[in-house]
Amino acid sequence: MRAGADGCPGLVRVHAAADGGLARVRLPGGVISGPRFAVLAAAAAELGDGFLELTSRANVQVRGLSDGAERELGARLRAAGLLPSTTHERVRNIAASVLSGRDGAGLLDVRPLVARLDAELCADPGLAELPGRFLFTLDDGRGDVIAMRGDVGLYAVGADEMALVLAGADSGLRARPEEAVDLALSAARAFLRVRTGEWRVAELAGGLPLPGARAEPVAVPVAPRRTALGAIPQRDGRTAFSGLVPLGRLDPAPLHGAGEIIVTPWRGVVIPDLSDVPHFPGLVTAPEWDGLTSCAGRPGCAKSLTDVRADAARTRAAGGLPVHWSGCERQCGRPADRHVAVVATPGGYEVRLDGTVRTGDLTATAAAVATTRRSE
Ligand code: SF4
Repeated sequence: MRAGADGCPGLVRVHAAADGGLARVRLPGGVISGPRFAVLAAAAAELGDGFLELTSRANVQVRGLSDGAERELGARLRAAGLLPSTTHERVRNIAASVLSGRDGAGLLDVRPLVARLDAELCADPGLAELPGRFLFTLDDGRGDVIAMRGDVGLYAVGADEMALVLAGADSGLRARPEEAVDLALSAARAFLRVRTGEWRVAELAGGLPLPGARAEPVAVPVAPRRTALGAIPQRDGRTAFSGLVPLGRLDPAPLHGAGEIIVTPWRGVVIPDLSDVPHFPGLVTAPEWDGLTSCAGRPGCAKSLTDVRADAARTRAAGGLPVHWSGCERQCGRPADRHVAVVATPGGYEVRLDGTVRTGDLTATAAAVATTRRSE
């Protein structure tokens, strides 16, 4: 297989979208400190369209950059510590269990592993060759991010043991937490040795050749246990607030002053370590937004057949499977797990589930989505 160009955007190489430059900022574990968030928000306001777009991998994007503004953006974010490596920035795709170590829901605290994986990834020049879509997942056993079917995952199966999960399947290889990052990186290096153009581990015909004794594989969750919404008690007596950002377009202003912000892979944010829970305008906890996502669509994407965000917002429905709206067949940002796909085509929207297709105008589509979700 021959590899084409790796088109994943970053901060150094921005994507030329219809509404201007688009820069993607990697946030390992989805975590960003309050001061860094303030820098990012100011840069988005002064250089972009003022919003932060949340991605399905818990990264953020700045849109609407004018020609040349990416250099100023990169300089500001590098000074703030948000661009620790120019060679590795696009491979720092690390999703981690949200609230790990804080709410007591996991078997161990993966936060130190996120920091170590990020540092060791960036310290190995060879790993800069990983594709920009290659994903690491670090799951503390709660079963949230491991269901994203990342390329290389570490899944806690005990307080002292992590399973190496490759493309969503348990390899049987095990490591103690302090050795787990080495195991994950050895899997990433093995991918680079055997790939002949594949972007993802799942595309390798022969899998990954990794030595070592195998344990009996465990079942890996295929549907993520998404972060609860609203106030979440922490083990230390404080509270985290979890809210969704409708269709992933975040106005950062109401989050100013937060000590830390965790972006979730479900277009939400969590503000941890609160003594009191203030109101955060723009964050919602209503269930009709849960699982409803869309690509950018018009006017941001020239390939889009319609303004999918506006259409999705008019047709939300509660309960059932996640629903992802797309402006064309590429279906950017769609969930990895089973979902209802609403795809714009020249003949109108198609609602797709498990190979079944329905076509219709917006009203018919809304009805089809609601029916499909309720029946699941
Ligand atoms: S799915 Fe199509 S319309 Fe939507 S952002 Fe991707 S390329 Fe653009």
